[in-house]
Amino acid sequence: MAERMLKFVGTPQAMPDKRPAAERRRDFDEIYEGFAKEKAAEQAARCSQCGVPFCQIHCPLHNNIPDWLKLTAEGRLEEAYELSSATNNFPEICGRICPQDRLCEGNCVIEKGFEAVTIGSVEKYITDTAWQRDWVKPILPRRERSESVGIVGAGPAGLAAAEQLRRKGYQVAIYDRYDRVGGLLIYGIPNFKLEKEIVQRRETLLRDSKVTFHLNCEVGRDVSLEELRARHGAVLIATGVYKARDIAAPGVGLAGIAPALDYLTASNRQGLGDIVPAFESGMLNAAGKNVVVIGGGDTAMDCVRTAVRQGAKSVKCLYRRDRANMPGSQREVKHAEEEGVDFVWLAAPQAFLGTETVSHVRTVRIHLGMPDASGRQTPQEIPNSHVNIEADLVLMALGFDPEDLPAAMSAPDLGVTGWNTLKIDWKSMMTSLDGVFAAGDIVRGASLVVWAVRDGRDAAERIHSYLTTKTLAAQRIAAE
Ligand code: FAD
Ligand code: SF4
Ligand code: SF4
Repeated sequence: MAERMLKFVGTPQAMPDKRPAAERRRDFDEIYEGFAKEKAAEQAARCSQCGVPFCQIHCPLHNNIPDWLKLTAEGRLEEAYELSSATNNFPEICGRICPQDRLCEGNCVIEKGFEAVTIGSVEKYITDTAWQRDWVKPILPRRERSESVGIVGAGPAGLAAAEQLRRKGYQVAIYDRYDRVGGLLIYGIPNFKLEKEIVQRRETLLRDSKVTFHLNCEVGRDVSLEELRARHGAVLIATGVYKARDIAAPGVGLAGIAPALDYLTASNRQGLGDIVPAFESGMLNAAGKNVVVIGGGDTAMDCVRTAVRQGAKSVKCLYRRDRANMPGSQREVKHAEEEGVDFVWLAAPQAFLGTETVSHVRTVRIHLGMPDASGRQTPQEIPNSHVNIEADLVLMALGFDPEDLPAAMSAPDLGVTGWNTLKIDWKSMMTSLDGVFAAGDIVRGASLVVWAVRDGRDAAERIHSYLTTKTLAAQRIAAE
């Protein structure tokens, strides 16, 4: 092993080639090329095969990273794929969009001094290769079970749970209010981070594995939660969080101010070939406009980079803290800066100016004061520091909260937390309703794809235990 691995001293870190910013600005294609075989093996061989792999500990899925890196370095890609897909339902998706700098790579032992192993890119390479070589096959359970599970939400949490349950032979039906499968993978995250075909081939795989989809079907409107409980042995709620946070500032109702997700959904739909009136009319289209995005998370980064690609005249990102304290990935900020986005750190909106349509954002400079109870420095306005920034389109990317699900689903007994996320028993993952489980953002609040996958997998395990116990009890009663 030693000859092949531990190459981090002599081999510098290399990401796959990144397309030049000038080229990227003109299209919505992914920005990284794939690794070539030799490059993937070379980069995987930088791993020092730690006895205590911090990368694995800090991956929410506890992926067996050192082992699949070693197999990649040795050219044993089919085995690397088997290992990688044993713990992750969507390794090629996580490899593309996990904030690795905060998870596996940020905790790679060689990061101090030698720069981390490029774990995400190797993970993506392994599974992209598996797809190319036809190693990814539909699920054929060893035995079919008669019990069925209804899953509400076709985002990563629901899809991961569906795959795991299908592996165990359950009959799985997924209900989603959207017309497409994927949740935020399809309508939130832009193509330049995750090309839509990558999500769609997963959908095809699940359909080929006999998972049933009921699209354009909103639970609470087209079918009730009670009906699903009667129809299925267990129900999983994986509906995500969609209520956009707002700010109370004068002028916030002017035309030209829109929630970030409406804007990104319109762009994604347009890219998928849909006719999107709000895009056609220019309402949700940045072409030729001065765009100001408010926020510092992943959603804000996706908005600024989408606006650049739509041909905005200027794109500014307004964030009330500084670069070091922003929630978004540093890698994304770097991409955005390369693509021409102007970051206005330590600035907050005070008012939106204009007659009917917004023309300027009135901003105030911020000073970071003493840390609050959470340890974060408190933003404080600096008196008389106003600046007006020209804006024809303002996008609010201030985060998301859950909708009132008990009301939306006419299920008053469905327990929620103080934040309106679904309350579950973390051991059983069951909500306050018997046989109704929950996973993903609707439990955690806005989080990450990799956590949604983890929760979906865990929920599938708990549903399996629940249904097994229920079936055994029913058999015992029948035998008595
Ligand atoms: P979702 O993906 O939100 O899926 C929920 C599904 O439930 C949706 O399809 C919805 O239509 C459906 N649904 C809701 N209510 C009902 C109902 N009543 N009946 C039927 N169906 C219903 N994470 C990362 O790891 N990396 C990133 O780069 C990243 N970028 C992001 C960019 C944006 C713009 C956003 C908004 C989020 C981003 N995230 C990112 C976060 C990530 O997308 C989410 O954490 C993840 O998708 C949550 O998965 P989920 O399955 O819980 O919910
Ligand atoms: Fe890293 Fe995400 Fe892959 Fe885990 S799933 S190894 S955190 S890229
Ligand atoms: Fe390899 Fe880094 Fe993980 Fe150690 S922490 S096993 S060097 S990838």
